[in-house]
Amino acid sequence: MSIQENYNNIKDQLPATVQLVAVSKTHPISAIQEVYELGQKVFGENKVQELTEKYPLLPKDIEWHLIGHLQTNKVKYIAEFIDTIQSVDSEKLLNEINKEAAKYNRKINVLLQIKIAEEETKFGFEIEEARNLFQKFVNGEFSNVEITGLMGMATFTEDENQVRKEFKILKDLFDDLNKTKPLQTLSMGMSDDFPIAIECGANSVRVGSAIFGRRDYSQS
Ligand SMILES: *Cc1c(COP(=O)(O)O)cnc(C)c1O
Repeated sequence: MSIQENYNNIKDQLPATVQLVAVSKTHPISAIQEVYELGQKVFGENKVQELTEKYPLLPKDIEWHLIGHLQTNKVKYIAEFIDTIQSVDSEKLLNEINKEAAKYNRKINVLLQIKIAEEETKFGFEIEEARNLFQKFVNGEFSNVEITGLMGMATFTEDENQVRKEFKILKDLFDDLNKTKPLQTLSMGMSDDFPIAIECGANSVRVGSAIFGRRDYSQS
């Protein structure tokens, strides 16, 4: 199937209330441009270097999301233009984003990445850590960031019940924090599990290979 067919196919499956983040990592400018011309304005990349190479070559009204693990020393390279950092997984990183955003006199949207998968390798906060950090934000810390929601990745497994269980943990936390201060974005679901994520309450999905095709090399 062509990129256009893939894209339309995904769009057809998404309720109007669910945001699509088109994950373009490893794919060339030409492919991103093609999807952009189909009307897609929100794209996700997982590596700072790749993003900073692509950014100047693409239309300026693209809303860029960083979705991969971010090292504090690299925040400065994207602070001027990044719309949302979905992969905030430590207070140290949040502090750094806050500091760099202040230099540009702007606010950067962030999602707290929560560890919901069983796998040891996935980055993210434990539930209690996230609660504590969110409370600091509600109390007025981090004035140059806006915590707009939560992000999580389920375990890579065929076991649908396991995936549902993990998404539900994130949805429950989202609903709970939302009582303290309204949140906009619950980002969960990728090419293989986004329909389940939406059933479990996701209002933003990160879809790469189902739009752009398989990536040539494996991604962390
Ligand atoms: C690569 C990636 C995706 C997209 O994965 P696909 O399976 O290609 O849809 C989503 N979220 C994160 C954090 C990723 O790194």
